[in-house]
Amino acid sequence: MPSSPQAGPSRLKQQRTDDSDLGVASTRSVVRDEKVWFDDGNVVVCAAARDGGDGLLYGFRCHASVLAARSPVLKARLELAGADDDMLDGARCIDLNDAWEDVRDLMRMLYGFMSIAFERRCNDTVALIAGSLRLATKYEMDDILLRLVPLLERDWPSRYTEWQRGEVELRRRHEEQKAAARSNNIPFVPDAQQDPAAVVQVAQQARIRSVLPAAFYELCRRDIGDGTAHRPLDASRLSRDDFQRITIGRERIAAAARRLFVDELDRSLLNDRLPLANGERCLRAGQNERNRQPACCRPLYAWWHEVAGRGTPYFSPKDPFVAVTRACAFLLTRDGAGGSLVQVQACATCRRALARLMHAQAQKLWDGLPQVFELNALPI
Ligand SMILES: [Zn+2]
Repeated sequence: MPSSPQAGPSRLKQQRTDDSDLGVASTRSVVRDEKVWFDDGNVVVCAAARDGGDGLLYGFRCHASVLAARSPVLKARLELAGADDDMLDGARCIDLNDAWEDVRDLMRMLYGFMSIAFERRCNDTVALIAGSLRLATKYEMDDILLRLVPLLERDWPSRYTEWQRGEVELRRRHEEQKAAARSNNIPFVPDAQQDPAAVVQVAQQARIRSVLPAAFYELCRRDIGDGTAHRPLDASRLSRDDFQRITIGRERIAAAARRLFVDELDRSLLNDRLPLANGERCLRAGQNERNRQPACCRPLYAWWHEVAGRGTPYFSPKDPFVAVTRACAFLLTRDGAGGSLVQVQACATCRRALARLMHAQAQKLWDGLPQVFELNALPI
C-alpha cells in the first residue's frame, strides 16, 4: 500500500511526461522524488516500484554524509562505491534493492517530511511507518527505529495494564464520536482502527517481537476474513504460520481462561478464601472466621458461577480480558448501586478482593501470550 497517497505512482508517471522531471545522464534516467531531491545532494538513491511496477527507477537526490551518519550499512555501501557507478547530473547513483514505496517513506522520514498521527491505534500509523521500519531495520538506522518502534509499542503494548488503558481510551473515543454524531444529527462513521494483520506482518519484517503478543491476541478475538471499514483486517498479509498461531492460540487462550478464571477462582471461593490485603477484614465475617469469609465467598461463588458458568455467553473464552474487566467493574460498583445479588450479599472488602484476584489472573494470562503463540520459535 503506498503510504503517502498524495505522491502515488500515477502522479510520478505523469511527471515523467514532462522532460524537466527526468534527470538525464549518460546511462540512466530516474523519476525525481517531489520532496527528497536536493540540488546540492551528491548521491542519488534509486529504487524500483514494488512488484515490478512500471519499470521506472525512482530517485532521491540526497547527501552521502546524511546517509552515512544514519546507517552503518549505507556508509559501507557508499565507501565501496567507485568510479564504475552511474552518475546523474554530477551525483553518484546508488541502487537499493528495495521497493520504491519503502525507500520513499524512509527518505522522507530521514529528511523530516513525514508526519505521523499520534492517536492510538490510528489506521494510518502502520501504513505510514511500515516501509521505514522495514528499511531502518535492514540498514541498521537506530535513530529511526528509536522514533518509530515506540509508536507501535504504544498501540500494541506488551504490558497488560497498558493494553487495558488502550482499550479504555478506544472505547471512550468511540463513544465520544458517537455522541458527537448524534448531537450533530449526522451518521456515525467510526475512525478506522489499525489492521492487526498489518502489524503482525511488519513486526516480523522489522523484528519487533514486543508488539506481537497483543497483535496476535487481537487477531484471535476477531473473525479472520471479516474486516470492515472500521476494523480492517487484510488476511492476505498473514502467513500460514501466522494462521496456525491464531488457531492454536485461540484454543490455548480458551483453555487458560477456563483454568485461571473458572477452576482456580472456583477453588478459592469454594474454600471460603479470598486474598485480603494487610489490615483488610471481611465485613461479614464472624468472630471465629478471621481467616475465612464464608458469608461473602458463597454468594460470590454463586454469582461468578452464573456469570462464568460453562456455556454462558457472557464470559467469552475468545476474549476473556473484556469479560473479566467487565466483571471487575461490576464488583467494584458502589454498594447497592445496582441492587444485585452480589452487591447485596457480599461485602465491599471481599468484592474488592475478588476483583484483585481476577485482575491478577488476567495478568498471568496476558504475560503467557508469548508462549501461547510460540513467539520464541519465530526466526526474528
Ligand atoms: Zn466479606
